[in-house]
Amino acid sequence: MKENDQTNAVAAVPDQDGHFGPYGGRYVPETLMHPLKELEEEYFRSQQDPKFQSRLQYYLREFCGRPTPLYFAERLTESLQGPRIYLKREDLLHTGAHKINNCMGQILLARRMGKRRIIAETGAGQHGVATATVAAMFGLECVIYMGKLDCERQELNVYRMKMLGAEVRPVIAGQQTLKEAVNEAMRDWVTNVRHTHYILGTAYGAHPYPIMVRNFQRVIGDEAKRQILEREERLPDLLVACVGGGSNAIGLFYPFLEDKSVRLLGVEAGGQGIEPERHAARFQGGSLGVLQGTRSWILQDEHGQIQRTHSVSAGLDYAAVGPEHAWLRDRQRAEYDYATDEQALTACLKLSRLEGILPALESSHALAAILERAPRMSREELIIANLSGRGDKDVHQIAAHLSEGS
Ligand SMILES: *Cc1c(COP(=O)(O)O)cnc(C)c1O
Repeated sequence: MKENDQTNAVAAVPDQDGHFGPYGGRYVPETLMHPLKELEEEYFRSQQDPKFQSRLQYYLREFCGRPTPLYFAERLTESLQGPRIYLKREDLLHTGAHKINNCMGQILLARRMGKRRIIAETGAGQHGVATATVAAMFGLECVIYMGKLDCERQELNVYRMKMLGAEVRPVIAGQQTLKEAVNEAMRDWVTNVRHTHYILGTAYGAHPYPIMVRNFQRVIGDEAKRQILEREERLPDLLVACVGGGSNAIGLFYPFLEDKSVRLLGVEAGGQGIEPERHAARFQGGSLGVLQGTRSWILQDEHGQIQRTHSVSAGLDYAAVGPEHAWLRDRQRAEYDYATDEQALTACLKLSRLEGILPALESSHALAAILERAPRMSREELIIANLSGRGDKDVHQIAAHLSEGS
């Protein structure tokens, strides 16, 4: 293969319509085709613009708190008697999770496009809070769609968003959770697209969202690579991250894709076990389908009806997975496993007590996979786990679990 062909082979995924092999693409109403193309063009222009890049760097550093540490988890490592475990501390970012990396990138893009109004969907409220935060910071109008049930379950985040000046619109349709909130946000966008930008919260949806969000999150992997090379003078053997839509995982994995010695492990929500409607592990019970703008692995019944999902962590509780993960799995570049609610809660408490770090229940799924695998790995090996968020938001749920258990 000539060098040129190789470059083309890499550049060909995704293709110009956002297809990763059979996945991805742009399945939207006709009225959104033009705005998506406009967004794509402006996004690619911003990537080539040093001023845009340095402004983004500035706010990531000064406002969000980057770079985040790559922390050696000494007592966790000792207790498992296996590989050296490092934690990428995205939990230390402003607003408590990796979501702000993407929000900061997209709001700078929205400003560049002259948009005055920001909308977003949110499930647990983490993406809503991050969006309301950057909107407040730049003085843009902000509307957040959130399922009514989620509003009740995550009341604290609803108040946070309101304090930040956002309008929270509860969505009454269907199961009144994330999927319905996305539908409403898309409906709003169709109507108001001239002056409105939709900040989608994960590496999902119609092209260019999956690659745009990935690229705004790849800062996680870029930093981690530099940091591990400084600390250990070699690449890690295994990267582990939880997978909801897939943005924190792809953000960590992406800069390592060409490093074939680095194994990649994504961990989905196994909920109460792999039975229909009891989990959100798309690669376990799912099949190929189209949902909310893209084609990927989806939890659906034999008639194509989207199934209910369950996870103790609201951030992983979604019926579809980002298209690039489906592609990486097909090519066997990344492996996907799941952790149950119970395993995640155990891992959450273990990290809290061994390391003095309260992880989000989402991130605890990644930790659960490490608890299972590390004892079977060699002490010479290195693991990096993405600590996508902090657990403060989950304290009620964890407390309920503790009192059940005792
Ligand atoms: C939203 C969220 C996730 C899941 O989203 P991804 O796009 O899969 O990263 C994971 N962890 C935390 C802390 C979150 O808030």
